[in-house]
Amino acid sequence: MKKIRLKFLMCAVGMLLIIACAGCGRNKTNNDLLEAGEHQLPASENEVTPTSLPAATGLPATPTPDPTATSAPDPTATSTPVPTATPAPTKAPTATPTEVPATPAVTSTPTEVPATPTVTPDPQGGGTGKKLIVIDAGHQRKGNNDKEPDGPGSATKKAKVSSGTTGHFTGLPEYELNLIVSKKLQAILLERGYDVIMVRDTHDVDISNSERAEIANKADADAFIRVHANANDNSDVNGAETLCQTSKNPYNADLYPQSRKLSECVLDALCAECGCKKRHVVETDTMSGINWCRVPVTIVEMGFMTNEQEDRLMATETYQDKLAKGIADGIDAYFAK
Ligand SMILES: [Zn+2]
Repeated sequence: MKKIRLKFLMCAVGMLLIIACAGCGRNKTNNDLLEAGEHQLPASENEVTPTSLPAATGLPATPTPDPTATSAPDPTATSTPVPTATPAPTKAPTATPTEVPATPAVTSTPTEVPATPTVTPDPQGGGTGKKLIVIDAGHQRKGNNDKEPDGPGSATKKAKVSSGTTGHFTGLPEYELNLIVSKKLQAILLERGYDVIMVRDTHDVDISNSERAEIANKADADAFIRVHANANDNSDVNGAETLCQTSKNPYNADLYPQSRKLSECVLDALCAECGCKKRHVVETDTMSGINWCRVPVTIVEMGFMTNEQEDRLMATETYQDKLAKGIADGIDAYFAK
């Protein structure tokens, strides 16, 4: 009798192992998927502002609009390991049970992150204690066109993540520019005494927009900075803008005041440092990476890669340094207020 029971047990364990391995294998193939996903607002939502810059010529007609493909969400996303970058905060996310696939699929291992950021719980984001900033360099080399809900429990699905736009005059991919500036921002913030977690520090990752937000949530970030560059059908359009949720966001309206303030501070300081056109803080509830947030968040659209002058500027290290310093100044201002 005992022998039979033992055999049955071993058999069950074996089956479990096989199922677990099958899950792993499937996840790895995600890297091969098409590009798509959250980028800037669709062109129709991006106001076209006539500017003093000379009109650019030879502009390709279609900057990257948000695609709307229809593949199913990947249930295996929940079975991947927890990102090692996250400094294992003991504080559980305050989210509802429906909120998120529990474990973002972070394949990168940011090495520059301080091993144990001392996060002082401070809901106001001011006062004493080291502030923790999570930086998300937007996009990745290969997008993932699988779909995910655009917010906790939402029936609306969006592509997990796209590879972004490309400099129409420089050919510089947005995901590269975003990471260059993000790394510069990381260095400045560390020097100024912040703790920093990078969502990615390489291009070859597969991290959806909701998973990026979840990294910031799990870290209990004092601010989540998402670094992007913009595109528009009209090559005249230029300038920087920041994005946050509306005051009526169904998922995190409670964070609107802080996100709005963060967005204003970053936009003001970036434009002051860079001398670029200051557009506006765009309030939108269509961004998965904002809707999934349980911490103050802003998307920084540093400039338009469809505008010749701005595209060429953003490709220079001098201007990239300014962008990073401007964003850092804005983060300082946010906590100073
Ligand atoms: Zn983008």
